[in-house]
Amino acid sequence: MSETNPQLTLLAILEGVKRFKTDIYPKHKELYCQLANGQSPTTLFITCADSRISPESLTHQRPGNLFVLRNIGNIVPAYGNSFGGVTSAVEYAVCALKVSTIIICGHSDCGAMSALIHPEKLESMPAVKKWLQYAETAHAITDALSATDVGPESIQSLTEHNVLLQLAHLRTHPSVAGALAKKEIILQGWYYDIPKGKIFILDEETRNDMTVEEAIKMLQKKIELQS
Ligand SMILES: [Zn+2]
Repeated sequence: MSETNPQLTLLAILEGVKRFKTDIYPKHKELYCQLANGQSPTTLFITCADSRISPESLTHQRPGNLFVLRNIGNIVPAYGNSFGGVTSAVEYAVCALKVSTIIICGHSDCGAMSALIHPEKLESMPAVKKWLQYAETAHAITDALSATDVGPESIQSLTEHNVLLQLAHLRTHPSVAGALAKKEIILQGWYYDIPKGKIFILDEETRNDMTVEEAIKMLQKKIELQS
Protein backbone atom coordinates (compact mmCIF):
# COMPACT_ATOMS: atom_id res chain seq x y z
CA MET A 1 0.00 0.00 0.00
CA SER A 2 1.47 3.41 -0.94
CA GLU A 3 1.83 6.20 1.63
CA THR A 4 -0.97 8.73 1.45
CA ASN A 5 1.32 11.58 2.45
CA PRO A 6 3.54 12.37 -0.58
CA GLN A 7 6.31 13.72 1.63
CA LEU A 8 6.49 10.43 3.53
CA THR A 9 6.58 8.54 0.23
CA LEU A 10 9.48 10.65 -1.02
CA LEU A 11 11.23 10.29 2.33
CA ALA A 12 11.05 6.49 2.09
CA ILE A 13 12.55 6.60 -1.42
CA LEU A 14 15.38 8.94 -0.34
CA GLU A 15 16.10 6.76 2.70
CA GLY A 16 16.36 3.84 0.27
CA VAL A 17 18.90 5.75 -1.84
CA LYS A 18 20.90 6.50 1.30
CA ARG A 19 20.91 2.79 2.14
CA PHE A 20 22.03 1.93 -1.39
CA LYS A 21 24.97 4.30 -0.96
CA THR A 22 26.03 2.96 2.44
CA ASP A 23 25.15 -0.77 2.21
CA ILE A 24 24.84 -1.91 -1.43
CA TYR A 25 27.27 0.24 -3.40
CA PRO A 26 30.38 -0.53 -1.28
CA LYS A 27 29.77 -4.29 -1.71
CA HIS A 28 29.60 -4.00 -5.50
CA LYS A 29 31.87 -1.04 -6.10
CA GLU A 30 34.02 -2.92 -8.62
CA LEU A 31 31.00 -3.79 -10.74
CA TYR A 32 29.71 -0.20 -10.74
CA CYS A 33 33.16 1.07 -11.73
CA GLN A 34 33.24 -1.42 -14.63
CA LEU A 35 29.77 -0.28 -15.69
CA ALA A 36 30.88 3.36 -15.71
CA ASN A 37 32.45 2.91 -19.13
CA GLY A 38 29.49 1.51 -21.02
CA GLN A 39 26.86 -1.16 -21.14
CA SER A 40 26.72 -4.44 -23.02
CA PRO A 41 23.48 -6.08 -21.92
CA THR A 42 22.73 -9.56 -23.23
CA THR A 43 18.97 -9.26 -23.15
CA LEU A 44 16.16 -6.88 -24.00
CA PHE A 45 13.54 -7.49 -21.31
CA ILE A 46 10.11 -6.11 -22.18
CA THR A 47 7.55 -6.15 -19.41
CA CYS A 48 4.60 -4.33 -17.87
CA ALA A 49 5.16 -1.19 -15.80
CA ASP A 50 3.44 -3.00 -12.91
CA SER A 51 5.31 -2.29 -9.67
CA ARG A 52 5.25 -5.94 -8.59
CA ILE A 53 7.68 -7.03 -11.32
CA SER A 54 11.37 -6.75 -10.58
CA PRO A 55 13.20 -8.02 -13.71
CA GLU A 56 16.66 -8.27 -12.13
CA SER A 57 15.41 -10.18 -9.07
CA LEU A 58 13.22 -12.44 -11.17
CA THR A 59 16.08 -13.48 -13.44
CA HIS A 60 18.86 -13.20 -10.86
CA GLN A 61 20.83 -10.84 -13.11
CA ARG A 62 23.27 -8.15 -12.06
CA PRO A 63 22.95 -4.51 -13.17
CA GLY A 64 24.19 -4.18 -16.76
CA ASN A 65 22.75 -7.46 -18.09
CA LEU A 66 19.16 -6.50 -18.84
CA PHE A 67 18.08 -3.64 -21.09
CA VAL A 68 14.61 -3.12 -19.67
CA LEU A 69 11.67 -1.67 -21.57
CA ARG A 70 8.46 -1.22 -19.63
CA ASN A 71 5.01 0.09 -20.40
CA ILE A 72 1.40 -0.61 -19.56
CA GLY A 73 0.58 -4.13 -20.77
CA ASN A 74 4.09 -5.01 -22.09
CA ILE A 75 3.06 -3.84 -25.53
CA VAL A 76 5.20 -3.57 -28.67
CA PRO A 77 3.25 -1.85 -31.46
CA ALA A 78 3.85 -3.40 -34.89
CA TYR A 79 6.49 -1.51 -36.87
CA GLY A 80 5.12 1.60 -38.55
CA ASN A 81 2.13 1.94 -36.24
CA SER A 82 3.87 4.05 -33.63
CA PHE A 83 7.34 5.59 -33.89
CA GLY A 84 7.78 6.25 -30.21
CA GLY A 85 9.77 5.05 -27.25
CA VAL A 86 9.11 1.36 -27.78
CA THR A 87 10.19 1.25 -31.43
CA SER A 88 13.35 3.24 -30.76
CA ALA A 89 14.29 1.15 -27.71
CA VAL A 90 13.89 -2.10 -29.70
CA GLU A 91 15.98 -0.70 -32.56
CA TYR A 92 18.67 0.57 -30.19
CA ALA A 93 18.83 -2.72 -28.25
CA VAL A 94 19.20 -4.81 -31.40
CA CYS A 95 21.30 -2.55 -33.64
CA ALA A 96 23.53 -0.74 -31.15
CA LEU A 97 23.66 -3.02 -28.10
CA LYS A 98 23.44 -6.27 -30.11
CA VAL A 99 21.32 -8.09 -27.53
CA SER A 100 21.02 -11.79 -28.29
CA THR A 101 17.72 -12.45 -26.51
CA ILE A 102 14.42 -10.60 -26.28
CA ILE A 103 11.94 -11.61 -23.61
CA ILE A 104 8.38 -10.32 -23.37
CA CYS A 105 7.00 -10.94 -19.89
CA GLY A 106 3.31 -10.62 -19.04
CA HIS A 107 2.00 -11.21 -15.53
CA SER A 108 -0.92 -12.31 -13.38
CA ASP A 109 -3.52 -9.77 -12.23
CA CYS A 110 -2.46 -7.34 -14.99
CA GLY A 111 -4.60 -4.20 -14.79
CA ALA A 112 -4.13 -3.56 -18.50
CA MET A 113 -5.54 -6.96 -19.42
CA SER A 114 -8.43 -6.50 -17.03
CA ALA A 115 -9.14 -3.11 -18.67
CA LEU A 116 -9.31 -4.79 -22.08
CA ILE A 117 -12.15 -6.92 -20.73
CA HIS A 118 -13.76 -3.95 -18.97
CA PRO A 119 -13.08 -0.94 -21.23
CA GLU A 120 -15.58 1.13 -19.23
CA LYS A 121 -12.87 1.39 -16.54
CA LEU A 122 -10.87 3.56 -18.94
CA GLU A 123 -13.43 6.30 -19.56
CA SER A 124 -11.33 8.87 -17.70
CA MET A 125 -8.03 7.66 -19.22
CA PRO A 126 -8.13 8.26 -22.99
CA ALA A 127 -4.38 7.82 -23.46
CA VAL A 128 -4.38 4.39 -21.79
CA LYS A 129 -7.45 3.40 -23.79
CA LYS A 130 -5.70 4.31 -27.04
CA TRP A 131 -2.48 2.53 -26.04
CA LEU A 132 -4.37 -0.69 -25.28
CA GLN A 133 -5.68 -0.81 -28.85
CA TYR A 134 -2.33 -2.46 -29.65
CA ALA A 135 -3.48 -5.42 -27.54
CA GLU A 136 -7.03 -5.60 -28.88
CA THR A 137 -6.32 -8.57 -31.18
CA ALA A 138 -5.30 -10.64 -28.15
CA HIS A 139 -8.72 -9.90 -26.67
CA ALA A 140 -10.42 -11.07 -29.87
CA ILE A 141 -8.39 -14.33 -29.89
CA THR A 142 -9.17 -15.03 -26.22
CA ASP A 143 -12.85 -14.33 -26.81
CA ALA A 144 -12.90 -16.67 -29.77
CA LEU A 145 -11.15 -19.49 -27.90
CA SER A 146 -12.72 -19.30 -24.45
CA ALA A 147 -16.10 -19.27 -22.80
CA THR A 148 -17.72 -16.07 -21.68
CA ASP A 149 -16.54 -16.08 -18.08
CA VAL A 150 -14.07 -13.35 -17.20
CA GLY A 151 -12.48 -14.86 -14.10
CA PRO A 152 -8.76 -15.14 -13.40
CA GLU A 153 -8.41 -18.03 -15.92
CA SER A 154 -9.58 -15.77 -18.75
CA ILE A 155 -7.27 -12.97 -17.69
CA GLN A 156 -4.37 -15.43 -17.72
CA SER A 157 -5.37 -16.62 -21.18
CA LEU A 158 -5.69 -13.02 -22.40
CA THR A 159 -2.32 -12.12 -20.87
CA GLU A 160 -0.65 -15.08 -22.59
CA HIS A 161 -2.27 -14.31 -25.95
CA ASN A 162 -1.18 -10.71 -25.55
CA VAL A 163 2.44 -11.82 -25.02
CA LEU A 164 2.22 -13.98 -28.17
CA LEU A 165 0.68 -11.07 -30.10
CA GLN A 166 3.41 -8.68 -28.98
CA LEU A 167 6.06 -11.25 -30.04
CA ALA A 168 4.43 -11.28 -33.48
CA HIS A 169 4.51 -7.46 -33.53
CA LEU A 170 8.17 -7.55 -32.54
CA ARG A 171 8.99 -9.63 -35.62
CA THR A 172 7.68 -6.83 -37.86
CA HIS A 173 10.50 -4.54 -36.67
CA PRO A 174 13.22 -4.55 -39.34
CA SER A 175 16.06 -4.75 -36.81
CA VAL A 176 14.51 -7.84 -35.18
CA ALA A 177 13.57 -9.46 -38.50
CA GLY A 178 17.15 -9.00 -39.74
CA ALA A 179 18.71 -10.43 -36.57
CA LEU A 180 16.31 -13.39 -36.65
CA ALA A 181 17.18 -14.10 -40.29
CA LYS A 182 20.86 -14.20 -39.32
CA LYS A 183 20.02 -16.40 -36.29
CA GLU A 184 21.64 -13.83 -34.02
CA ILE A 185 18.69 -13.50 -31.68
CA ILE A 186 16.14 -15.58 -29.76
CA LEU A 187 12.67 -14.31 -28.82
CA GLN A 188 10.71 -15.78 -25.92
CA GLY A 189 7.38 -15.05 -24.21
CA TRP A 190 6.82 -15.46 -20.47
CA TYR A 191 3.91 -15.44 -18.06
CA TYR A 192 4.80 -14.46 -14.49
CA ASP A 193 2.48 -15.84 -11.83
CA ILE A 194 3.08 -13.37 -9.00
CA PRO A 195 1.55 -15.26 -6.02
CA LYS A 196 3.21 -18.55 -7.04
CA GLY A 197 6.55 -16.86 -7.78
CA LYS A 198 6.71 -18.85 -11.03
CA ILE A 199 7.55 -18.06 -14.62
CA PHE A 200 5.93 -20.07 -17.39
CA ILE A 201 7.48 -20.10 -20.84
CA LEU A 202 4.98 -19.75 -23.67
CA ASP A 203 5.51 -22.10 -26.58
CA GLU A 204 4.51 -20.11 -29.65
CA GLU A 205 3.85 -23.19 -31.79
CA THR A 206 1.68 -25.19 -29.39
CA ARG A 207 0.40 -22.14 -27.45
CA ASN A 208 1.02 -24.18 -24.28
CA ASP A 209 2.95 -23.23 -21.17
CA MET A 210 6.26 -24.84 -20.28
CA THR A 211 7.91 -24.76 -16.89
CA VAL A 212 11.31 -23.13 -16.62
CA GLU A 213 12.78 -26.59 -15.86
CA GLU A 214 11.31 -27.98 -19.12
CA ALA A 215 12.56 -24.99 -21.10
CA ILE A 216 16.07 -25.40 -19.63
CA LYS A 217 16.15 -29.12 -20.57
CA MET A 218 14.98 -28.36 -24.10
CA LEU A 219 17.58 -25.64 -24.54
CA GLN A 220 20.38 -27.79 -23.11
CA LYS A 221 19.54 -30.54 -25.63
CA LYS A 222 19.67 -28.04 -28.51
CA ILE A 223 23.05 -26.72 -27.30
CA GLU A 224 24.41 -30.32 -26.97
CA LEU A 225 23.31 -31.15 -30.52
CA GLN A 226 25.17 -28.14 -31.87
CA SER A 227 28.45 -28.97 -30.12
ZN1 LIG B 1 0.41 -5.30 -16.10
